[in-house]
Amino acid sequence: MKFSEYNFHEKVLKGIETAQFEEPMPVQEQVFAHSLQGRDVLVQSQTGSGKTAAFLITYLDRFVREEKPFKALIIVPTRELADQIEDDARLLASGIPDIRIATFFGGMGYQKQDKAVTLGVDLFIGTPGRLIDFQSSKKIDFTSLDMVIIDEADRLFDMGFYPDIKKMLSRMRPAAERQTMLFSATLSTRVRHLAWEYMSNPATVEIEAERVTVEDIKQGIYHVPKDEKFKLLLHVINQRNPENALIFTNTRHRAVEVAKRLQINGYQSQFLMGDLPQRKRLKIINSMKEGKLRFLVATDVAARGLHINDLSLVVNYDIPEDYENYVHRIGRTARAGKSGAAVSFACEQFVYGLEAIENFIKMKIPVEWQDSLEDVDDKSTDVPAGELKYRTQQERRPSSRQPRGPRNRKPKEQEKRVRQKPKKKDHPVTPDAPAPKSRKPQRQTVRQHEESSIQALPLEQRIAIYKEKYGSSLEKRSEEAKPKQQKNTEAEPVQKSRKGRGLFSRLFRKEQ
Ligand code: AMP
Repeated sequence: MKFSEYNFHEKVLKGIETAQFEEPMPVQEQVFAHSLQGRDVLVQSQTGSGKTAAFLITYLDRFVREEKPFKALIIVPTRELADQIEDDARLLASGIPDIRIATFFGGMGYQKQDKAVTLGVDLFIGTPGRLIDFQSSKKIDFTSLDMVIIDEADRLFDMGFYPDIKKMLSRMRPAAERQTMLFSATLSTRVRHLAWEYMSNPATVEIEAERVTVEDIKQGIYHVPKDEKFKLLLHVINQRNPENALIFTNTRHRAVEVAKRLQINGYQSQFLMGDLPQRKRLKIINSMKEGKLRFLVATDVAARGLHINDLSLVVNYDIPEDYENYVHRIGRTARAGKSGAAVSFACEQFVYGLEAIENFIKMKIPVEWQDSLEDVDDKSTDVPAGELKYRTQQERRPSSRQPRGPRNRKPKEQEKRVRQKPKKKDHPVTPDAPAPKSRKPQRQTVRQHEESSIQALPLEQRIAIYKEKYGSSLEKRSEEAKPKQQKNTEAEPVQKSRKGRGLFSRLFRKEQ
């Protein structure tokens, strides 16, 4: 059944379309069967199963249909998960512009979260500690909630949040007066107990964890020094010539490095980061699915829920530290009864994970022998390490996207002055040739440049130059600074006048 065949509100269908979801995943299908009737659901499902969209779509559909405000709270164990759910929610709510979504978690100031509650929130997403804080200070009213979702309940309990969850639920309206959905990887006794106490006759949905039959996958392991892994990757690609491949690394930094080095060597490749915006992630995943992208380098977190059929090869560039991830990784090939191949590179850093993997899959992975890698031509060896580095989302964000309040806004004129490079003949650094006094705007740039050149000199020389250049005005300026500076601040760039003052006063102090 397709999403379009459900009776979702058109605003919700628009979001589903934006997210490029066509058919519901099994957990969604089974949850919708109960949740769209307003029933409580207790769901056993794994990360990557599509559970987030199951509860978000249920909420959004009710939000647009209900006449009165319809508020929901999603309780999660970590800040990262809160952020991820917020991203998914904004994407799926792209057809509902009036919805107000906000996240609440510790480890950051209260200002932004306070502002959100003042403006009003429809969908709260947060971790227990901060949510209880807000409830205790009466900034969030738990009795106003119409829907509660507890995500990754088993993880919440492992982290010691069981009493907090009970406390939160006990401060809400009775279970029959709200809809409650609980998601957990396992339906442990504690999970069931919570459901029994705080849910209203919930329907139970159990989605089996993805079962991978490793027997269908042709596995191999290469023992290789860490420094030669990239050459080995090139060798494997040349030798096996796979139609496409998913390459796993243990860190984001390595994923970026490998993807960039593949590009330098002329291979079409991309990296997948957990912190890439969801739209970009989808774009990359889709280009892989459509056969437009040949190599995708990803970490385990980024590859969660990645459903690419017809994958020819999986490469464990790093042996995973968690043995279960080995099975998840290689299970991405050999889907739907097809046979596939997976190779792993065991280096001195990650070889220690191998024994646990072999115990887990109950087989020895056959060793592959490669000839010398000396002949492999790697065009990325001379590229400076800095160019292969991973930059966080913050670092990648162009400065133009930073908030531009009146304080951040630079007058165009000032921006130009700072950027303008003085011509060499205009700025002799020697004391014998002071900067020309006319041409006002130019003079400032020249002086800035001059000062930075002078600062590179030893202190004694600097003082001599300044004395000669500015003579007695050095002392005078330092004393008279205040009223004049104030005037200057208005007429000249703030940065400039501050810099000047600091420099003069420092030199002056040193002299005394
Ligand atoms: P989750 O288990 O909620 O972390 O979801 C795993 C991944 O599946 C996410 O990247 C979702 O964007 C994706 N996803 C969820 N529902 C669907 C769907 N119906 N079709 C395709 N992808 C989906």
